[in-house]
Amino acid sequence: MANKPKKTLGLEIGEAAVTPPPAELEPAIEKKPLNPGTTRKRDIPQGLWTKCPKCEEMIFDKELEENLKVCPQCTHHFPITAWKRIKDLTEPDSFEEADANMISVDTLEFTGTATYADKLEKHRKKTGLKDAIITGTGRIGKHEVGLGVMDFEFLGGSMGSVVGEKITRIIEVATERRLPAILISSSGGARMYEGMFSLMQMAKTSAAVAYHGRRGLPYISVLTHPTTAGVMASYASLGDLILSEPKAMIGFAGPRVIKDTTQSELPEGFQTAEFLMERGLIDAIIPRAKLKFRLAEYLDYLCLNLDEKSA
Ligand SMILES: [Zn+2]
Repeated sequence: MANKPKKTLGLEIGEAAVTPPPAELEPAIEKKPLNPGTTRKRDIPQGLWTKCPKCEEMIFDKELEENLKVCPQCTHHFPITAWKRIKDLTEPDSFEEADANMISVDTLEFTGTATYADKLEKHRKKTGLKDAIITGTGRIGKHEVGLGVMDFEFLGGSMGSVVGEKITRIIEVATERRLPAILISSSGGARMYEGMFSLMQMAKTSAAVAYHGRRGLPYISVLTHPTTAGVMASYASLGDLILSEPKAMIGFAGPRVIKDTTQSELPEGFQTAEFLMERGLIDAIIPRAKLKFRLAEYLDYLCLNLDEKSA
C-alpha cells in the first residue's frame, strides 16, 4: 500500500529511478505500432480497392468508378453521390444548380449526443454539400427537366426544411416553365432534428407535385437504396412513373416495426424494389447503367403531348 503513491509522486521526490525505468524500456524495444500498420496495408491497400459487401469480391476502385459504382461481379449497386449521378445523367454542361446556398436553421436548438448545428457542420465538411439534395435544371437526351437528386451521405438523406423547400421550388420552376420533373430519392425519411418542420415538408412537396400534374406535366420518381419513411410517403411515391434501381430497399417503417405491429411473419423479399414491382407500386426496375437511356426514352413518350401544346 505504501509503495503505490510513491510511484506516481516519484517524479517530485526524486525516487522515480527506483521503479519506472525497466517497465518503460521493455515496450520501447518491441516497437509494437509498426506491425499492425504494415500487415493491414498488405491486406488492403488503402484507396485502391473496395470490397463488395454483397459478393465480397475485391474491386479495383477505378473499375468501380468506371462501372458507375456497380459491382462488375454481382451487379450490387453501391451508393453514389448526388453530383456523380447528375454528371452521369445530364448532358455535359447542361445542368444549372438552383438554390445552391440554402441552409437549414436550427429552430429547435436540438441537442442530443451532438447538437444539430454540429451535425450539420460535420456533414457539410464531409460531403461538400449544404444539405441532402441538389436541385436544378438540366438536359437528359433532348429534354430540359427540373431535376432533384438526394445524397444519402448527408445525414442519411433526411428531409428537413431545406430538402422540402428545394424540391418544392424546382417543381414550381418546372410547372412554370412547362418542364417534366425528375426526383431521385435516397433517404431515411424526415429529419428528426427539425421536428414538425420536417413533417410539414411532406404536405408541401406533395402539393407542388399535384399542381405540376394538374398542368399536364409528367413527373418521374426514381427510387434508390434506401428510400423510406416520410420521403417514400410523400413525393417519392407520387410519380406518374415510379422507377427503381435493382434490389433497393423501399418502404415506410422498418421490417421489425411492421412485424411487431402486425404480429405476423413478413414474406420473403419484403420491402425490396422487386417485391414492390410485382405488386404494382413500382413501374420498372432499371440498372444504373441504363437509367439515362431509359429516362430519355420515357421523356420522349411523356413529352409528346407537351411539345405539341407548347409548339
Ligand atoms: Zn459484388
